[in-house]
Amino acid sequence: MPRVFSGIQPTGDPHIGNYFGAMKNYVRLGEEYGKNSIYCVVDLHAPTNPGAYDPARLAARTFEMALANMAVGLDPQKVIFFAQSHVPEHTELAWLFTVITPVGELERMTQYKDKAGQLESVPAGLLMYPVLQAADILLYKADTVPVGEDQVQHIELTREIARKFNHAFGETFPEPRAVLAKDALRIPGVDGQGKMSKSKGNTLGILEGFDSIWQKLRVAPTDPARVRRTDPGDPDKCLIGDYHKLFSDLPTIETVYVGCRTAGIGCVDCKKMLMEGIRRELTPVQERAAELQADPDRVRDALATGAREAREIAVPVMEEARERVGFLK
Ligand code: SF4
Repeated sequence: MPRVFSGIQPTGDPHIGNYFGAMKNYVRLGEEYGKNSIYCVVDLHAPTNPGAYDPARLAARTFEMALANMAVGLDPQKVIFFAQSHVPEHTELAWLFTVITPVGELERMTQYKDKAGQLESVPAGLLMYPVLQAADILLYKADTVPVGEDQVQHIELTREIARKFNHAFGETFPEPRAVLAKDALRIPGVDGQGKMSKSKGNTLGILEGFDSIWQKLRVAPTDPARVRRTDPGDPDKCLIGDYHKLFSDLPTIETVYVGCRTAGIGCVDCKKMLMEGIRRELTPVQERAAELQADPDRVRDALATGAREAREIAVPVMEEARERVGFLK
C-alpha cells in the first residue's frame, strides 16, 4: 500500500484554497490509506522565513492549523497526525541529507530564489528548507506526496536526495512522487487578482464568520460585461462562477450559468445563492471547530499520540540511516 506524507504549514486561518486544494484531500486519502497517511504541521519550517519570525504566535498557529484540519474531518485515530517539532528525527535526518546535497542545486530552487531575492542577509535555513522537506518525507519512506504546483520542484529534489543517499550508502529510501491537487491551482482570490493567498489578503477563511464572508463577496468583482442588470454575462469569466463550482449543487450551478448568460438573474442574487452553498459546506466545519476550541486538550492529546505513532516509524528508519552512514553504535 502506498504511504502518503504531507506537511501542513502552520499559517493559521486556513482559507478555501487550502480547504479544496489540500485539507479535503488529506481527509479523503486518510479514509483510503489509514495509518499509511501521515500528516504533520511543519512548524520547524516556519522560522526559515526571517520576515515571519513570530515566537508568540508560532505555537498558537500550529495549534490552530491542527484544530482546523481536525474540524474539516481529519481523524487522528485513522491517520498519523502530529507536529513536526515533536519528532526530533526530522532534523537528524535532515543533517545527513545536508551533507550530500550540493549547494548549487539548492540555490536553483525557484522558491529559494524568490524569497532570498527579497532579503539582505539570507539565513542558511532558508537554503536548507527543501533538505528538511526531503527528510520529512523520507523519514517515513513515503512514496506519495500530495502537493501544490509550487512544491513539485522540491519533490524532484527529494527524489534526487534519495538517489544520492542510496548511491552513497546503499539502497535505503524510495523515490517519492508528487500528486498534484488540481483544484488548488484554480481557486481565485476574492479580489479577482489571481490565486487566493494569505499574503495577498484576498482569502475567504473556512472558519471566518459568514457575515464577514458575505461582505467580501458582496463587493467581489464579476464579469465586467454585466454593466447593467440586463446585460448578459459569462460565468466562466467570473470568480463567483468559479466558486459556485466548488460550493453549489448541480441544479444551482445550472440556474446560475443559464441565468448569467441570459441576464435572467442579477449578480447579487447569484452571490446570495453562492452564500447558501458556502453556509451548507462550512457550517459543520465551523461547528466542529467550536467544539474543539472548547476542548483544546483533544487537539493537544491527538498531536501527542500522533508524535508517538510517527516515532514508531521514524526511529527505526533513522537507526537504519545512521547504520548505513557508519556511525559508531
Ligand atoms: Fe458572475 Fe453570477 Fe454575475 Fe454571472 S451572474 S457575472 S456568474 S456574479
